[in-house]
Amino acid sequence: MTSNMERGTELKLISKNTRPTSMRILVYDYLNIQTAALSLTEIEAYFHKADKVTIYRTLKTFEEKGIVHRIQDNNITKYRLCDEGCSEHIHKDHHLHFYCKVCKQTTCKKDISFPGNVKTDFRIDEIQIFAKGICELCLASGKQRKHVKR
Ligand SMILES: [Zn+2]
Ligand SMILES: [Zn+2]
Ligand SMILES: [Zn+2]
Repeated sequence: MTSNMERGTELKLISKNTRPTSMRILVYDYLNIQTAALSLTEIEAYFHKADKVTIYRTLKTFEEKGIVHRIQDNNITKYRLCDEGCSEHIHKDHHLHFYCKVCKQTTCKKDISFPGNVKTDFRIDEIQIFAKGICELCLASGKQRKHVKR
């Protein structure tokens, strides 16, 4: 039996030239319900019964196919689903990535981005815009007051 959600994911993966294996569907659906970026370790912990190599390869394939983008968060690599605009080898996730020092979540701030189609003499392969601070939720809850500065 296939649920509507799985069917949707299947079609999504096919549209990105990616064969919808059951592992790929599970990983995609898991990333899809997240509100923040996840590290490989966090994804592995959730799928602890699955083979780690398979999970790593799934993410690698997703990245190549324009399904997820990598975020360099200090020394940790995190993953987040891409927007529709990304395709095989062409990522357009040139937006700000924001790390909250209080809740330790890294999120995509898509309304703040590097302008597209910038003409340069040099070739840009990758753009990383990264900021640290306190997110809107933590600011609103007043949690930042308890935060001790390092
Ligand atoms: Zn992308
Ligand atoms: Zn926060
Ligand atoms: Zn992002």
